[in-house]
Amino acid sequence: MRCLVTGGAGFIGSHAVKRLLDDGHDVLAIDDLSRGHAEAIELLRPRAGGRLAFERCSIQDGDRLGEAVRAFAPDAVLHFAALAYVGESVQIPGRYFAVNVSGMLNVMHACHGVERFVFSSSCATYGQPPDEMIPIPETCPQAPLSPYGRTKLVGEWMLRDCARAQALAGEAVGVAMLRYFNVAGADRSGVLGEDHEPETHLIPLAIDAALGRRDALTIFGSDYPTPDGACVRDYVHVEDLIDAHVAALDALRPGRVLAYNVGSGRGHSVREVVETVGDVVGTPVPTIEGARREGDPPRLFADPSKIERELGWKARSPGLREIVGDAVAWRKAHPNGYSQS
Ligand code: UDP
Repeated sequence: MRCLVTGGAGFIGSHAVKRLLDDGHDVLAIDDLSRGHAEAIELLRPRAGGRLAFERCSIQDGDRLGEAVRAFAPDAVLHFAALAYVGESVQIPGRYFAVNVSGMLNVMHACHGVERFVFSSSCATYGQPPDEMIPIPETCPQAPLSPYGRTKLVGEWMLRDCARAQALAGEAVGVAMLRYFNVAGADRSGVLGEDHEPETHLIPLAIDAALGRRDALTIFGSDYPTPDGACVRDYVHVEDLIDAHVAALDALRPGRVLAYNVGSGRGHSVREVVETVGDVVGTPVPTIEGARREGDPPRLFADPSKIERELGWKARSPGLREIVGDAVAWRKAHPNGYSQS
């Protein structure tokens, strides 16, 4: 297949590019490099055998995007390009709507007629589900607590409405919305890893704090209604997440609209993550107790049984320790991230 990957130089997008190349597909990766890394793409070129093209282009530039997509003529699009920080989305919601909603509309417009569309949605679309809906099934009402979550929910609505209209017009396409839980870890072969600037995610921050490369980790909130007072999340290995994309691509047919949770089904508190990172690194993570971060729901973990039942996908990773282990291995091998490693 010819696969367009938006956000192909980012953490998740680059792992998707690698997998698609390894599976023999042709890939056009698009990224504006505002948060992605050109080096991630360069590291993948040797395994591409000429099947990887890269275009530095913002999804907000609809004209250039349209030209690039027309020239490539994809059979499938995996749309990862987005801003993805809950806290930042509360501070600059307009930018989140501009990139995640207007930018996504540009991608949809450029990809009109492409038969398969896989969208990175988020568990943030659920907000804080009622206790009886945890673990969270796909039927849980979507009531996001942050602008980030709202942009992802609008993305789902846009895709559903457009897929329906296209089907009615006799031009049916297949769309899949994958609601990610907390994606972490690193490519098991050691080529790719997680390197955000700014870094706001728990696992990379905790690793750098344990390695003495950052100040103490602030635990955001100790008074949540959870067993140890800290937020609970479902951490899924980035390679498992990409497996789910491959399964969705295989399952998509014209007229199919799929929505799945992609999580491990296990909830871990911030304190459990911090302890695991300390164990794996061999040095405890220095921590400070801080205030809650606005927009953070107390408890989120998936009921992933629908995707297992329908697509046969299940997280292969044995658990948090392996996810942290892969992230630590990459971080130790790339002490300064991509650009100066
Ligand atoms: N978190 C924290 N300290 C940090 C970063 C994150 O306590 O410096 C918490 C955060 O409040 C959330 C969990 O760790 O409960 C996971 O946050 P992350 O930013 O990694 O992912 P998100 O859940 O926002 O997608």
